[in-house]
Amino acid sequence: MSNASQIEPVHVVGGGLAGSEAAWQVAQAGVPVVLHEMRPARMTEAHKTHGLAELVCSNSFRSDDAESNAVGLLHQEMRRLGSLIMHAGDKHQVPAGGALAVDRDGFSEAVTAALEAHPLVTIDRAEVAGLPPEEWDQVVVATGPLTSPALAEAIRGLTGADALAFFDAIAPIVYRESVDMGVAWFQSRYDKPGPGGTGADYLNCPMNREQYEAFVDALLAGETTSFKEWEANTPYFDGCLPIEVMAERGRETLRYGPMKPVGLTNPHRPDEKPWAVVQLRQDNALGTLFNMVGFQTKLKYGAQAAILRMIPGLENAEFARLGGLHRNTYLDSPRLLDGTLRLKAAPRLRFAGQITGCEGYVESAAVGLMAGRFAAAERLGRAVRLLPPTTAMGALAAHITGGHILAEEDEDEDGVEGAGAVEGAPKPAKPRSFQPMNVNFGLFPPLEGALPKSADGKRLRGSAKAIARKKALTDRARADLAAWLAEADSLGVAAE
Ligand SMILES: Cc1cc2nc3c(=O)[nH]c(=O)nc-3n(C[C@H](O)[C@H](O)[C@H](O)COP(=O)(O)OP(=O)(O)OC[C@H]3O[C@@H](n4cnc5c(N)ncnc54)[C@H](O)[C@@H]3O)c2cc1C
Repeated sequence: MSNASQIEPVHVVGGGLAGSEAAWQVAQAGVPVVLHEMRPARMTEAHKTHGLAELVCSNSFRSDDAESNAVGLLHQEMRRLGSLIMHAGDKHQVPAGGALAVDRDGFSEAVTAALEAHPLVTIDRAEVAGLPPEEWDQVVVATGPLTSPALAEAIRGLTGADALAFFDAIAPIVYRESVDMGVAWFQSRYDKPGPGGTGADYLNCPMNREQYEAFVDALLAGETTSFKEWEANTPYFDGCLPIEVMAERGRETLRYGPMKPVGLTNPHRPDEKPWAVVQLRQDNALGTLFNMVGFQTKLKYGAQAAILRMIPGLENAEFARLGGLHRNTYLDSPRLLDGTLRLKAAPRLRFAGQITGCEGYVESAAVGLMAGRFAAAERLGRAVRLLPPTTAMGALAAHITGGHILAEEDEDEDGVEGAGAVEGAPKPAKPRSFQPMNVNFGLFPPLEGALPKSADGKRLRGSAKAIARKKALTDRARADLAAWLAEADSLGVAAE
């Protein structure tokens, strides 16, 4: 880092999950970076604080299982590449079964403090309200799904293409003390302890068949927020469907999705198998707030509180935050970006995070990690080497920049965030256009060669085959990442 003062800075626009990670990677490579974040001067519809890397909804980074879950593998790869987001997440984790969930304030404060303390990082609290100035010759745009309108318009003008839009919905948060523990109980599904957990991390609210049917009826009758004209034809992302939309898709959909009753035993009524279960996950380190897992909704506030209080145990629930709607803006990346995430029409602009069409906190940070490294390598005059497409990061980048394929369903450790992730739930329709995508094994190139056989020499079938396949995919990813790291210096540039 000794001659860093002679190196022109890389500019990163947006201090969210992706921009914070990108700025960190650039600085760690010895290149100065200016991080432009518009909050608190200008807020988005979802952000509430001025902290960098604020988590706007759930506090979960999802499964931490690197053997059989694609997002768990992504965690592992990011840790190997010195991710600030993963380091802060690990440091501020709260119990959440097999998932990695974090104390959102502690996490955001840790990311902010690390960037503020880095000698090569300058933080500029101002909106970039239009195309970045021409003299910024290397820019990473990481302004997220709620990119400010002035910048979104400028990008749209530059690409000549309409940015696509769709809806996500926010899940409600409940005060723990308002939950009736004479009805609810603590247990993780199948008592799985997971990282930092105890096996009894979730609050569970059981329903019998009559209660479930009445709840579905209420959801179907509930008044939802109406669409504005410009929102009217915007499709939902299938991995994050509102509960009332799931109910519309079929009366059983919720029971196979966020309300599935498996792996749980009600200690208050051990002989009675619940027909459905609503799970709540710890949302802050103090354990005073719990979010309703997979319960994103666009029900109007009045109707919403009344319907949610039909859930046994939540009759007197007090809500720290009710569910809501948001719009998402993202690029048609396979068409507009090159393999290193640069805008083909203006290669000085590189994109990262959710605006590229990845979906999720961890995916956004992972794309930020790659964009930061690519930008630093370019600034240092080195050839940029992509990650192998057999790794979770490489597969995600290949999906964004190389086009999309229809992903197979991927089960989270949580297993319940949305209908798209749930066994038995309706499968998302084959996308006709590029759609935001969580990392999943469907993005990985197929395995070469046969899977190992069972102990008695037979071909594996069913779930045993699926487990073996995931293990083979994650083993291959680890081996290929290790080989890539052995060949490359810390920037992913071939050793000279
Ligand atoms: C309401 C909502 C709920 C979501 N819930 C979840 C969830 O529960 N789990 C999950 O995994 N993912 C969720 N997502 C999706 C996604 O993971 C997050 O949006 C994630 O924060 C994306 O990371 P990012 O870095 O791309 O964008 P962000 O984290 O949004 O960061 C973008 C940053 O850019 C700043 N900015 C915008 N425009 C400008 C400008 N012109 N100049 C300067 N700064 C600017 C913003 O203030 C913001 O800090 C949700 C998204 C939204 C909008």
